[in-house]
Amino acid sequence: PELAHDLKASVRTIPDYPKPGIMFRDITTLLGDPRAFRRAVDELVHPWAGSKIDKVAGIEARGFIIGGAIAHQVSSGFVPIRKKGKLPHACVSMSYALEYGTDIIEMHVDAIAPGERVILVDDLIATGGTAEGAIKLLRQTGAEVVAACFIIDLPDLGGAAKLRGMGVPVRTLMEFG
Ligand code: 5GP
Repeated sequence: PELAHDLKASVRTIPDYPKPGIMFRDITTLLGDPRAFRRAVDELVHPWAGSKIDKVAGIEARGFIIGGAIAHQVSSGFVPIRKKGKLPHACVSMSYALEYGTDIIEMHVDAIAPGERVILVDDLIATGGTAEGAIKLLRQTGAEVVAACFIIDLPDLGGAAKLRGMGVPVRTLMEFG
């Protein structure tokens, strides 16, 4: 569709970043384009217009930008999910799979009350390791993960399918092969 095409044209591709052979999808050009940024936020939340969302949880760091805008749009709170050691108060933590090895993400222990309806947000889903860790972390606190939203899906890496297998509806706006 026209909308998807316009948005896709606003994403910049940087070859060989951060290492040789990687095609990095740079969303700063989408964020810097006022119409593209609004369209991306509006399109991502469209299925949940009119439904009650308690919190948007954004994954560090680009998930903060999009997640903050989405939280404002749906009149919910915002909750940061960060790399280990960055949050000041007591945290719950979860290890997650990286390409090589594992890492740990954290969230404040009192950020979400049991039963709250949460949308998870990040800029891009690849293998889904990061988002899978975030969903486990949210569910550990008793949150209901209503959906996971990403601007970009890399479907060949299987992340969106993995999240759907966990029972989480996934919304993305464009794909890169
Ligand atoms: P995954 O855990 O799904 O394999 O990787 C997704 C995470 O890596 C996201 O937090 C995302 O921000 C980051 N990421 C991986 N590749 C890219 C890329 O090409 N562009 C951007 N913007 N982020 C990426």
